[in-house]
Amino acid sequence: MTPKDVLKMIKDNGIKMVDMKFTDFLGTWQHTTVPAHMVDEDFFENGMGFDGSSIRGWQAINNSDMIMVPDPSTAKLEPFAELPILYMICNIFDPISKEPYSRDPRNIAKKAVKYLQSTGIADTAYFGPEAEFFLFDNIQFDYTRNTGYFFIDSEEGDWNTGADGVNLGYKVANKGGYFPAPPVDSLWDIRNEMAMTMESLGLVIENSHHEVATGGQCEIDMKFEEMLKMADQLMTFKYVVRNVARAHGKTATFMPKPIHGDNGSGMHVHQSLWKDGKPLFAGEQYAGMSEMALYYIGGIIKHANTIAAFTNPTTNSYKRLVPGFEAPVSLAYSSRNRSASIRIPMYSPSPKAKRIEVRFPDPLCNPYLAFSVMLLAGLDGIQNKIDPGEPMDKNLYDLDPIELSAIPQMPSSLAQSINALEKDHDFLLKGDVFTEDVIASWIEYKRANEISAIDSRPHPYEFKLYFDA
Ligand code: GLN
Ligand code: MG
Ligand code: MG
Ligand code: MG
Repeated sequence: MTPKDVLKMIKDNGIKMVDMKFTDFLGTWQHTTVPAHMVDEDFFENGMGFDGSSIRGWQAINNSDMIMVPDPSTAKLEPFAELPILYMICNIFDPISKEPYSRDPRNIAKKAVKYLQSTGIADTAYFGPEAEFFLFDNIQFDYTRNTGYFFIDSEEGDWNTGADGVNLGYKVANKGGYFPAPPVDSLWDIRNEMAMTMESLGLVIENSHHEVATGGQCEIDMKFEEMLKMADQLMTFKYVVRNVARAHGKTATFMPKPIHGDNGSGMHVHQSLWKDGKPLFAGEQYAGMSEMALYYIGGIIKHANTIAAFTNPTTNSYKRLVPGFEAPVSLAYSSRNRSASIRIPMYSPSPKAKRIEVRFPDPLCNPYLAFSVMLLAGLDGIQNKIDPGEPMDKNLYDLDPIELSAIPQMPSSLAQSINALEKDHDFLLKGDVFTEDVIASWIEYKRANEISAIDSRPHPYEFKLYFDA
């Protein structure tokens, strides 16, 4: 789609307003809306100025003018407004240098794809995320009231509603959500509406189901897509999930571990490299992989602690990465084993389906940054022939301490992964994809606003342990 096509689309659909959306540093859509008469061919060149100082993690107040320029290829009809509105995803530019803004996540992802192509290793990286999320009833989850502490704990028995929050007769059992038919799965209609809305926005949906956890955990899967486009699609995906949930009186959360004692929400990310239309991950090695795929895994394992600073970017993320809930703790790979960090799916013998599934990311990540760091780690593995070690086909939750000590582990806190990022990030600077400024700002933001903010506050469970001790 060119600017001309968008202008025609505006005319043909009687569009009144045009909405400009962009992804902030942390991975949330921001938007601003202009009347349709503001949009002409020049608008796609010059864009529109805005104040970048109030956007989390971006420019300082004394250096805050920024420009957003819409990408015409992303134009879609807005599904959640009363007026006929067209929206586009924007790129961010510095008004003085006219350069793409170095902290714009979409710019970082574009540079990562360009870097991939410059290496000659491959021309396309395909990504397929499986984002899980919870739907809660609004009334159960008014965190804004702030009238006291609460926590959701399946073992404490204070989280025993049905998935629809009301009907305890058809309650989803603890860890029993995968795949009972209605009436136990009371979220079917809502998920269908989400999936259909996503398809109307160009996403190709492959599957939609209730997930293992009680309290309304869901998953909707998209067909794999080229990396930048998939990052755009994941932003659309979250937008649809949250807005459809709201229309049904529900609140969606992509928080990785909202309920203690039950499964959390992960976002497995399937990945493969292709060149000239041919898949590069199929071969004669373990589980039908190529040597290149094994080295890619080697890079992911070697840099996993740094990768986690982006793929598991919150303090809550590490409450999911504990044994017993289908989330990985050990940095191993396997074709069978869902307790491993990296799985090689064996569903299809076709070389085109050969891919790796990285299981540690969670859906709170900024997809532009998370996909970019995994791609760069995998490329580092290929370029330096990093050996991923032997596959681990046994259940990694049941290893004895000696066996376990031989396997590298995921970081157990955001503080650990942020420290790893500080030490190990040269592979992110290749091709100028990430800059030292981007990495320093990420570290500083996470330490100041999340790690120390949580560490310095009394935790609800501390009251149970200590209040009357
Ligand atoms: N919810 C699990 C996780 O945290 C994944 C469950 C699954 O899809 N098999 O990763
Ligand atoms: Mg799945
Ligand atoms: Mg799942
Ligand atoms: Mg999976």
